[in-house]
Formats: sequence, structure tokens, C-alpha cells
Amino acid sequence: MAKVNTAKEPEAPSREADPTVERKGSSRAGKQQISIFDAWCKQCGLCVDFCPKGVLTKRALGSPQVSLPEQCIGCLLCVLHCPDFAISVTAKEETGDKSEV
Ligand code: SF4
Ligand code: SF4
Repeated sequence: MAKVNTAKEPEAPSREADPTVERKGSSRAGKQQISIFDAWCKQCGLCVDFCPKGVLTKRALGSPQVSLPEQCIGCLLCVLHCPDFAISVTAKEETGDKSEV
């Protein structure tokens, strides 16, 4: 019989000060690896506008940042709408290793 995981889902990180959120545009929190390549990004904001989960937010000058990585559902709308191939979302491998922070 399959084991049911009754553990409570971790709460989404705050948009304010969360040490798991790298402000430079990449985060390893959550089930997806979201990477933003600043050198290619022209700060159009399309990825932020199309994200249905509010994972991405705009910094002061319009460049995107990963604010709520736990909310990412891997829909790839941000990737599909980026005109400059500046954002990638890939599923992280489930290794069972709990050491990753
Ligand atoms: S994959 Fe979907 S949910 Fe995740 S950041 Fe991109 S648009 Fe948002
Ligand atoms: S859609 Fe692409 S180019 Fe536009 S802000 Fe997002 S990552 Fe940058």
C-alpha cells in the first residue's frame, strides 16, 4: 500500500527577506530550478506578467527576480514568452537527499 505523506507543505518564502531567494535571479528552492540570465535579459517584464503564480517579480529597474520559487508549477509560460531566451525552468531531480537548502 502506498504511503501517504501527511507532512505539511513548507510555507512559501516571503517576498521580503528570505535567505533561500537569490536576488540575482536564480533559485534552487522549490521543485523547479529557475534561472535568469541577466546578460541576455532586456527587462521587458513579459516573464513576470505571464507567470500565473506570482513567482517572478520586478526589481526597481524592471529586471525580474525569483521571489516565490515554492509556488512555481513548471508551466513554462515565462520561458515561452521570453523573447531573448533569458530564463530557464527545469525540474530538479528528486534524489531523496535532504541536505540541500
Ligand atoms: S514556470 Fe510558470 S509558474 Fe514557474 S516561474 Fe515560469 S511562469 Fe511562473
Ligand atoms: S521575458 Fe526574458 S527578457 Fe523579458 S524580463 Fe523576462 S527574462 Fe528578461
